[in-house]
Amino acid sequence: MSTSMMYHTFGARTYRYVTTKFKGGAAYHHLEKKEHLRRCAECRSRDITFDSVNEVTVKTVPCGFKETFLVLRLRVLKCRSCGAKRQESRDVAQPRKSYTRMFANYVLGLVKQMTIKAVAQHLRVGWDLVKKILKGSLQRKARRRSWRKVRRIAIDEIAIRKGHDYMTVVYDLDTGQVLYGAEGKGKKSLEPFFRRLRHARAKLEAVAMDMSEAYVKAVEEYWPRPVAIVHDHYHLVSNMNEVITNVRRLEQKRLEGEDKQTLKGSRYLLLYARERLEKEKPEKIPRLEALLAANEPLHKVYLLKEDLRLFFWGQESKAEARTFIENWVEQTKALDLKPLTTFAETVESRIEHIISWYDHPITTGPLEVVNNKIKVLKRVAYGYRDIEFFVLRLLFLHETKVNLAGA
Ligand SMILES: [Zn+2]
Repeated sequence: MSTSMMYHTFGARTYRYVTTKFKGGAAYHHLEKKEHLRRCAECRSRDITFDSVNEVTVKTVPCGFKETFLVLRLRVLKCRSCGAKRQESRDVAQPRKSYTRMFANYVLGLVKQMTIKAVAQHLRVGWDLVKKILKGSLQRKARRRSWRKVRRIAIDEIAIRKGHDYMTVVYDLDTGQVLYGAEGKGKKSLEPFFRRLRHARAKLEAVAMDMSEAYVKAVEEYWPRPVAIVHDHYHLVSNMNEVITNVRRLEQKRLEGEDKQTLKGSRYLLLYARERLEKEKPEKIPRLEALLAANEPLHKVYLLKEDLRLFFWGQESKAEARTFIENWVEQTKALDLKPLTTFAETVESRIEHIISWYDHPITTGPLEVVNNKIKVLKRVAYGYRDIEFFVLRLLFLHETKVNLAGA
């Protein structure tokens, strides 16, 4: 071992190599500060003396499979010029940390490829320490991230913890990154988001979201400047699918005998996009046809759903889209089916937000990739209950590799 090797392998450039001891299969390299570098930390004077020496042991990157520690001999320096009394700086490690900066960087490299648990086992440290290093790094990165160029976003809710608790997530539609996450799905959950966005002086143009009242109110209250709210394709169709599910349930309750039997297990047939069903499960088409022929209310609701899905977003202009959706609302109300009428009234009251798609054709479709990653993260994240950490991981999901390192 040499001073030069300490420098090149462990980045200990202000130290001189003293000796190495082996204990319990681990290597302990003893180092002391290079004499010519000793100065007063206050006034930089070299006119110093010292009384005591402290030994500080910090963990550093392993050599092969051998655990490796640096034993730093740090003197308490007394300055003859200004009288200051200070311990020499550690350089290789941050104050009070039990590991070197290099070790922390090594951990951050490994968690990109491996789970937190695997990294902890490999380096023979606790799971908590690896998590702490990762969390600290993500916090710093999150604070540095600029929101200035945010233009088009999507706000959505995701279920956490077995569908009972919700989290509001904001995505940047231009970069595909998660920008923000907070517990809850109410208006308040978005207040800190918009505060930071205002602070960043972002020129927000459009927000895609479902038709829930809370998010609309949040935008109106926390973003008091012109911005387009867009109830996007995905959410509108999935709301309509809920309506179909409800109508089907009511029909099933109402009917008896054979008619009731026809409805059994038919939900997915009704929700499937017609052209996809024809392509993926053509053998099911006769079943769907029979079902629709046998039940008039369902048939009508089904046609309205397909109509909305296939034609609303393909109109020539915003004006034509308005006419289309107004007609659609009329037809829908005319059916006089409770769940359907409620939905039609909501659509009617939100027409501006629905046709604003023609000014800002945004969709939450591209988020599917992120959402799949979130699902994986959720599965592995139940092991820890640290919501802040969970959100931080969401913010950097785009950097994580396939196996969602670090969970
Ligand atoms: Zn001094």
